Amino acid sequence: MALRDIIVLPDKRLRLKSEPVKAVDAEVRALVDDMLETMYKAPGVGLAAIQVGVPRRVVTVDTAKKDEPKSPQVFINPEVVWSSEEKGIYEEGCLSIPEYYEEVERPTEVKVRFMGLDGKTQEVAADGLLATVLQHEIDHLNGVLFIDHISKLKRDRVIKKFAKAAKRDEE
Ligand SMILES: [Zn+2]
Repeated sequence: MALRDIIVLPDKRLRLKSEPVKAVDAEVRALVDDMLETMYKAPGVGLAAIQVGVPRRVVTVDTAKKDEPKSPQVFINPEVVWSSEEKGIYEEGCLSIPEYYEEVERPTEVKVRFMGLDGKTQEVAADGLLATVLQHEIDHLNGVLFIDHISKLKRDRVIKKFAKAAKRDEE
């Protein structure tokens, strides 16, 4: 296992649409191991492969609380197949937009179809934090960021801030 670098705004790769995984091979397993290690180190509750610069449809999640045992979950080629009409608001953050948090409204419940590490297709019904994290991470696979769900004024402000910081780092 190895830690990988997390790419941050305004890295253009965050806007890529990731490619589906055809089969769970050694390369995918290694990617998953690295993503879990990277996610726990950050720390974060979810990570999409593109956040470590790999445009494949792979997501890792762990929504266990600090005092609970680790509960890593892996979602390959995940897609939302149903979402509730009821919506709720969560304050979201993103490892690729560090130290920025904003309230986002999304469906409170979703059903997600995905391939497990065993290569089998399965479905999970999620609510609460897991529902939010899954929608946030699946967005990443389509090049969508949580700031796309907030007002344009706020989005422009945060994009500008990160663009400025990137420029400063270059100088
Ligand atoms: Zn994110």
